[in-house]
Amino acid sequence: MNQNQLKKALSKLPLGDVRYFDSIGSTNNEALAWATGGARDLSLVIADEQTAGRGRLDRKWFTPKGSALAVSIILRPAAGEKPHLTRIVGLAALAVADALRTRSLVSQIKWPNDVLLNGRKVAGILVESVWSGEEVDGLVIGIGMNVLKGSVPSAELLQFPATSLEESLGPLVEREPLLHDILAGLIALRPHLGSDSFISSWEKALAFRGEQVQAEQGEGSLAAGKLLGLESDGSLRLMDEDGKSITVRFGDVSLRPGK
Ligand code: ADP
Repeated sequence: MNQNQLKKALSKLPLGDVRYFDSIGSTNNEALAWATGGARDLSLVIADEQTAGRGRLDRKWFTPKGSALAVSIILRPAAGEKPHLTRIVGLAALAVADALRTRSLVSQIKWPNDVLLNGRKVAGILVESVWSGEEVDGLVIGIGMNVLKGSVPSAELLQFPATSLEESLGPLVEREPLLHDILAGLIALRPHLGSDSFISSWEKALAFRGEQVQAEQGEGSLAAGKLLGLESDGSLRLMDEDGKSITVRFGDVSLRPGK
């Protein structure tokens, strides 16, 4: 990644501090340590390569050199945001979707933490918290996005198909303006985090709306039903075949099209 270009692209945004790495284990690990050590709101960790990028439950996230966007954004939630922290994953996903929309791409959010393009994963989000006693003192939003084809792992490593922006936009996609647009979108949407309209925008962007899905939870427990929408905390609302409403809470949930 070109550091000058990066600086220029981010210069007009109201950010905290920025740490850039040509290569790092995991941007989220660096950001968690930095947040614990007092990083300012909207500080960023950006890397050109992750050698130990993480998904949920320590699953791996691939970020080969020179082809992907890997950023971790540190938030210091304001008092008014604290009741809505379960919505932050939606904030990040909507910011990614908005940045894609300005590139004429319609993406969908595979609840809770992935963004799909043409039904395939183009970005993953990992939100982690830093606690101070009983209170969340900081949040780290990790975003990994496949930009060039080289960032897409081979099919046998994937449980869900993946794609890159290059497959839709060609090889000239630049990561610096893309990161700018994601951050600008997140900053613009953040004041609306607690509003009803936030939940309805998030719902509208969901993949599989109105369709049958299966939500696999942790140790093989499975909820199946029609995807109706979201609860106000961002939990997923399904309706089973008897018309009974099911709430799928955050956690290690993998959503798949149902039968
Ligand atoms: P889930 O697939 O349940 O959403 P995670 O959100 O934890 O799982 O994401 C990690 C998974 O994503 C990995 O197990 C792997 O299958 C897949 N993966 C890893 N790197 C990439 C990538 N660059 N693009 C798309 N999918 C990836």
